[in-house]
Amino acid sequence: MQLLLIEDDTAIAQALMAALQLQCFGVYHAATVAAADLAVEAFNFDIVILDLGLPDGDGINLLRRWRAAGLLLPVLILSARDNTADKVLGLQQGADDYLLKPFEFAELLARLHSLLRRSAGKASAMLQYGRLQFDPSAMQVYLHKQPVNLTQRELRLLSKFMYSPRQIFTTAQLEIAMSGHDTELESNALNVHIYHLRRKLGADVIDTVRGLGYRLGAGLSTDNTVQPV
Ligand code: CA
Repeated sequence: MQLLLIEDDTAIAQALMAALQLQCFGVYHAATVAAADLAVEAFNFDIVILDLGLPDGDGINLLRRWRAAGLLLPVLILSARDNTADKVLGLQQGADDYLLKPFEFAELLARLHSLLRRSAGKASAMLQYGRLQFDPSAMQVYLHKQPVNLTQRELRLLSKFMYSPRQIFTTAQLEIAMSGHDTELESNALNVHIYHLRRKLGADVIDTVRGLGYRLGAGLSTDNTVQPV
């Protein structure tokens, strides 16, 4: 999952990035409104954490502008502004959730997963696709209901496919999903990780779509739907 963290407090941002990366989020950090605008133009994100007090503007105005432009991705406001008027305004302007600082990381994580499930159109915590199940909150993959050990990069890659099972992803999109935005990848890393996923989960787990990229294996499920469990 690719997350855009908009936060000008360096200490909070660094702590959050470290904790979220351990949970297999690829995190891109923007400390200003201007940097956040550039980031959403350049990359595809799955979710946004938005601070309100930013050095070059207000997060509420940024959110209003993005929603007016048709940007749909889920946004969680993370702010120290604790009065009801600010919360109501944030939600009215298109935020999907509002969490007050100071916060417990576990609660933030639970809310992010809840937003991601809702945005994927599923109410259940577990994603299922044929013989595969993925529990995002535990970052655990099951094959025929048996837990499988995957590395963090393999998990990031597989979760990208499982959240959007019909989508064809380009090599560049998958490299970002796998590495986060701040890590240099070896040139053949994507091939290596896809090889390992196929070895651990079955050769048909990921389809190569020639000239376009990769997608979750169409042969995994007879009806090709993701079902809540
Ligand atoms: Ca701030």
